[in-house]
Amino acid sequence: MSGVDHVHTAAAVRRRQRMFVPPSGAYLSDPQVRAGDALLDRLFYATVDECPDPHCRPLLLDRVAADVGATRKLVDWACWITSEVYCGLPAELVNEDEAATTVFSPSPLFCRLAAEYHNPGPAFDAVYATYETVQRRQVADNAVALVDGLQVWGADFLYQ
Ligand SMILES: [Zn+2]
Repeated sequence: MSGVDHVHTAAAVRRRQRMFVPPSGAYLSDPQVRAGDALLDRLFYATVDECPDPHCRPLLLDRVAADVGATRKLVDWACWITSEVYCGLPAELVNEDEAATTVFSPSPLFCRLAAEYHNPGPAFDAVYATYETVQRRQVADNAVALVDGLQVWGADFLYQ
């Protein structure tokens, strides 16, 4: 038995000194999502901590991706932090062609959500509704990897 029985919390994170606000600290989405905050935080800290358990992040990602609201909160959180770092979302995140040139190279699906966050239109909710579970899993993975990368590299992350 392995997987997500062990716990990832801020207190358990080993290496990184600098710490952004975890997803639970971002009051960006529907209050109903608050119930999933602990899960989002665990996924974030498992990523930051580079958890050596090969099943850990995949299982946490599966759980987040199963929930549209949780996925959205995670993406909103990552976009919010990124906006703070760059004073807005850079083209390397919202434009999929430019994003493809970065080391981070997020999914075009993530770029589309970042573009909606950057310039919200009436279709914002509808965009999320079009994503399948496997696609939500991809954008959730990108969201935590983005914040983790910003912690390590700072604003250089998208320009290394
Ligand atoms: Zn773990």
